[in-house]
Amino acid sequence: LAKRFLGLEKNIWIEFAALAVEHKAVNVGQGFIDYEPPQYLIDFWKATVNDPNILLHQYTRGFGHRRLVEAISNVYSPFFNRKIDPLNEILVTGGAYPSLFNSFHGFLNHGDEAILIEPFFDCYEPMVRSSGAVPRCIALKPTPASIDADISSSSDWVLDKDELESMFNSRTRLIIINTPNNPIGKVFTREELEHIASLCQKHNVICISDEVYEWITYDPTKKHIRIATLPNMWERTVTIGSAGKTFSSTGLKLGWTIGPKHLIRCCQIAHQDCVYTCPTLPQEVIARCFEYELTRLNSPECYFNSIPSEFIGKRDKLVQALKECGMKPVVPDGGYFVLADFSQLAGDQFQSDAEDMKDFKFVRYLTKEKQLATIPVTGFYTAEHRRSVDKYIRFCFAKKDETLDKAIEILRKLK
Ligand code: PMP
Ligand code: GLN
Repeated sequence: LAKRFLGLEKNIWIEFAALAVEHKAVNVGQGFIDYEPPQYLIDFWKATVNDPNILLHQYTRGFGHRRLVEAISNVYSPFFNRKIDPLNEILVTGGAYPSLFNSFHGFLNHGDEAILIEPFFDCYEPMVRSSGAVPRCIALKPTPASIDADISSSSDWVLDKDELESMFNSRTRLIIINTPNNPIGKVFTREELEHIASLCQKHNVICISDEVYEWITYDPTKKHIRIATLPNMWERTVTIGSAGKTFSSTGLKLGWTIGPKHLIRCCQIAHQDCVYTCPTLPQEVIARCFEYELTRLNSPECYFNSIPSEFIGKRDKLVQALKECGMKPVVPDGGYFVLADFSQLAGDQFQSDAEDMKDFKFVRYLTKEKQLATIPVTGFYTAEHRRSVDKYIRFCFAKKDETLDKAIEILRKLK
């Protein structure tokens, strides 16, 4: 194995997706939807496959299928308050994963520092490390009042301003933020984003903004804010989106990076000698989906506007069941995951040790013995900060009611 990958062998998705399948567990772990995507997506797939334009079966433009980058530009320009240049300010990739990879590898030099906010989507750390840079991590911390509460909110988890400021130095090349956040569901406030933005400007740092859950927020007073739209931030931000999340179809594996030409150019160079171009047919399908949504962007029927109402009832149902079985849920303001503190329920049975964290042990136990698959939260932290959160596991509620009901049935029997 190449040295740059040493120490990066473990991956929570590889382990826990397989474990769920092996034990035929009710899967409320991995973030994928187990029911139909929007009907129009299926109709556009059929129409695209049957399209007489046989060139749709061949390579398309390397940095993004023309019809798709135009559609992305048309949909996103109003949200970024500017006309996004489809050819120079958008890069289409094989999902948010490669968008992240291209960004880290396109921006980071050996020895640079990248600031990560814990909990972070787990791949950020290995991607930074394999680029030769050094991750510097700062954890969101629950407010003292929320720590022992039977139910708390993702907005109770906050950054210490001074600590954040102390992370920046002359080696800092970038910071990555994820709002709405996976796994905790925090939607960063304008004030929090303004503070991050001011530090980026003061220290001349790039911001990568992972916004794959951009359309999924639940509280009208805590709307998603794009950091790239704050004053002087467009020039130093790349924003990442995912068709898998946007159209509830994670198998699509299609994503995009949006940003100023000089930053997108770095991502293009990392992309061009890796995949060169993404599959044409899915790009054509997603272009048609975006064009369709563009015709109803301001109506409640638009999928981007209706998706939270599809999930909020599921969130509340799961939260209630978690409370009833003796766990302490952290109710998310966005995304489709909920964290739960299981310490009261599990007692002293599971303990962190040199081998393994308590939450990993509990998740393995639930999956193997109770056929309930969830995800351990310490997987979203660096080794130094894991212990402080080893009492939490993550549930995904983007599941059909039948799946949630089965999960709730198992939770009831745990008590
Ligand atoms: N970022 C976050 C925060 C995620 O939760 C995910 C998982 N969907 C990704 C990136 C990767 O998305 P994709 O499946 O489009 O590669
Ligand atoms: N983003 C999804 C999650 O957090 C899936 C990640 C994965 O399977 N690699 O569950």
